[in-house]
Order: sequence, then C-alpha cells, then structure tokens
Amino acid sequence: MNGEIIAIGRELLMGELVDTNTAYFAQELANAGVTVRWASQVGDDIEHLHEAFERALDRSDVIITSGGLGPTSDDLTREAVASVLGEELTVDRDMVSWIEGVFKERGITEMPRTNIKQANIIPSASFLPNPGGTAPGWWVKNNGSDIFLTPGPPREIKRMWNDHIGPAIRQMTGSGVVHTRILRTAGMTEGGIDEVLSDLFGQENPYLGIYAHTNGIELRIIARAATDDDALAMTEPLEAEIRRRLGPTIWGADNDSAASRLGDLLVGSSMTVGVVDSGTGGTVASMLSHVPDHARWFRGSMVTGPGGSPLATPLLESMLGGPAGRTAGAVSEAAAHQMAVNARQLLGADLGIGITPPSADDDEQMKGTIFVGLSSPDGEKVVRGRFYQSADRALPRAAMFVLTEATRALMADEV
Ligand code: ATP
Repeated sequence: MNGEIIAIGRELLMGELVDTNTAYFAQELANAGVTVRWASQVGDDIEHLHEAFERALDRSDVIITSGGLGPTSDDLTREAVASVLGEELTVDRDMVSWIEGVFKERGITEMPRTNIKQANIIPSASFLPNPGGTAPGWWVKNNGSDIFLTPGPPREIKRMWNDHIGPAIRQMTGSGVVHTRILRTAGMTEGGIDEVLSDLFGQENPYLGIYAHTNGIELRIIARAATDDDALAMTEPLEAEIRRRLGPTIWGADNDSAASRLGDLLVGSSMTVGVVDSGTGGTVASMLSHVPDHARWFRGSMVTGPGGSPLATPLLESMLGGPAGRTAGAVSEAAAHQMAVNARQLLGADLGIGITPPSADDDEQMKGTIFVGLSSPDGEKVVRGRFYQSADRALPRAAMFVLTEATRALMADEV
C-alpha cells in the first residue's frame, strides 16, 4: 500500500517552522504497514494545494495531511479537497455545536463566527474527532484512496493518530501487530556493519534497517504479524544472529541512551562512577546527570577549561597528579590512566573515568585525539578516539564515545 504525506503551511516554505509532522507520520505509517513513497510541503495556496491533491490521488492509496484546518481565510485544505473531488462544502450543525462546546469549556461563551468554517464537510468525508483542539479532521474515501486531513499542532495529531487514524490504517493493511526492536552500536562504521550483515538486509518482513544518528549507528528490526508472539518469533532469531555477528559492538537496545545503559550496568554491579574530564567540557557529566536515577551511582566530575589553555593548566596538572604525571604529556595513555585512577581516589568512585584534553598537534593522525582511561578494582583500560570537528559537534561525539566505551568495557568485564 503506497502512502503520501502532504505538510501544508506557508511557514514551512519560509523556513520558519521545522516540519516534524512529516517525520512523525512517516514513522507511524511505516509501522502500520504503509510504504511512504512521496512527501511534500505546500503553501496555503488553493491552486498549489489542488495540484498536490490531484497528483496524490492519482498515485497513492493513503494520503495524510497536516495543517490548514484553522478558522482563518488562509486555511484552505478543506476547500482544496472539495474542489479536487468536485464536491460541495456544507456546514454540519452538530459539529458547530461541538465547537461551541469547546469554546464554552475554555470560558468563552461566544464562539467567533469564523470558527463555523471548521464545521464544513463534503459528502464523501466523515469527521475525525480532535479532543485537543477546535479543528476536527476529515477522513475521505474516494475511488480506493483514503485521505486523512489533520490540523497542524503535533500534540493534536498524535492523539488523532493513536485513537483513530492508526487503528483504521492498520485494519486496511492487515498489519495486526508491529514489533520494533532497536539495537544500538558503537565502534564500527555504517559501511563496516553493512558488510558484516549484508545478507540480512533487503527482506520485507522482518525488515532490517540501518541508520546513523548523533548517538551512534542503530539497527532497526520491524516485524509485522497477527499476534505479539508471532512478531516476537520473527524478531528474536534475527536479533540473535545480529548479536552473534557484531558481538560487543552492540551496547544497548530500544530506548537506552549511552548514559542510562552505563547507569544500569553500574546499578547491576553496585558500583559508582566518577569522572575527571579535560576533553568534553563537562558534556559527559551533563549526559550522566540527565539519567533519572543518576543520584544512585554518579559521584561527580571535575572538569578543566579548554585543553592546552594556560588557564586550565593548574587544574589539569592537579588532575594528572602533579609534575610526575605531567612528564608523559597531557595527551597520552599514561595521562588518561592517571586521571582515571585520580577520579576514583578524589571522588571516591568504584569506576574512574579520565579524559585527556584533545591533542592540538597539527599532525593528521593526532589532531583532536583524546585518550580515555577506565579504572576499577577489577581492571584498567585505555582507549583512544579522534574528534576534530568544531566544539558543537566534537564535544557530544566525544562524550558518546567515552560513555559507550565505558559501557562496553563493563559488559566485557574488562573493568
Ligand atoms: P489550528 O487550528 O491550530 O490553526 P491548523 O490546521 O490551521 O490548526 P496550522 O495553522 O497550519 O494548522 O498550524 C498550527 C500550528 O501547528 C503551527 O503554528 C505549528 O506550531 C504547528 N505545525 C503546523 N504544521 C506543522 C508541521 N508540519 N510540523 C510541525 N508543526 C507544525
């Protein structure tokens, strides 16, 4: 079943509004068994909207739109559908009463007359209730195509999808249950993973996708089946095979973040963590602090100013354990190790993490290199990574690296 999304609104074309509705619908439609083939953004212009609907009806089984259902004269979605289908808009009295009721609930006794427009409907459409606003949606059936019109606000759309549109579409596609499993990886490139798993891609059901995100490369398994058990029976063997091939590359699943996964592992082994950080400007501490139960296992972090700066030197030297630590150079395996040991001692943590400043060396192999030391009573490890982009990209990436490396080392019982 082919799907098409049309996001409507002038602000989208002016770059004033980021179109998150299309991303939301694209994900939900895929989960409901619809293959989205086209998505477009159209301004509030009756001719352009007419053209967009005409083309969509020609090629798509399911069309879903957002925006343009408001009460003002530039809200033209209903008019465009009516004109493409050659049907007349009439005011539905029951809907007028319902909208009047919404205004009364908000303490406004007199509904503005312009809102009557939102009670307009055509013969081939039925209303889709919108419990979050005054603009009801439409569900239009025409020659084998189904058009769903929804308003703009994402919060209203989610409720309408969950209560009405999603179930209706699932019934059409017969997709029953959709089971999604996400596996999160670190340490391999997208191409590298693709090579190892190449024969597992390309199947329709269960489907395996690969996506690069700011928090690493994720693998997504989507299975459609009649029941939960059947869907699980399809995803589990595929997940087991992926885990067998990728091993410790996988550090988490589903809603895990690198920080929450590390926290879970620390709780599991009754450990605490402390960080001495000269490489991520406190980003590691910030990520750990966003995990709801971090008070149970996060002892704290000491953070220096920018690596290499004279202002940061005194604190960095004390983190390195005085002049003895300095002799190896601040960007070195020895320094990372010493900082990890100090993190344990200074902060009283079971797991110490030490992060060196990024190397300022112009040498292509060294520029942006950091060393990350891990130290616990069960073992020690130092890894190296390179993050040479501007700070807004390098800091979160370096912090992700630190957290996933610590997670993987705990999973492998290395520390
Ligand atoms: P309303 O009854 O609220 O006027 P509407 O159907 O007329 O609804 P719009 O006026 O087009 O919708 O959009 C209302 C608001 O919804 C916008 O100001 C914006 O905040 C949000 N919105 C609209 N389209 C999108 C989109 N594609 N992605 C994310 N948000 C959107």
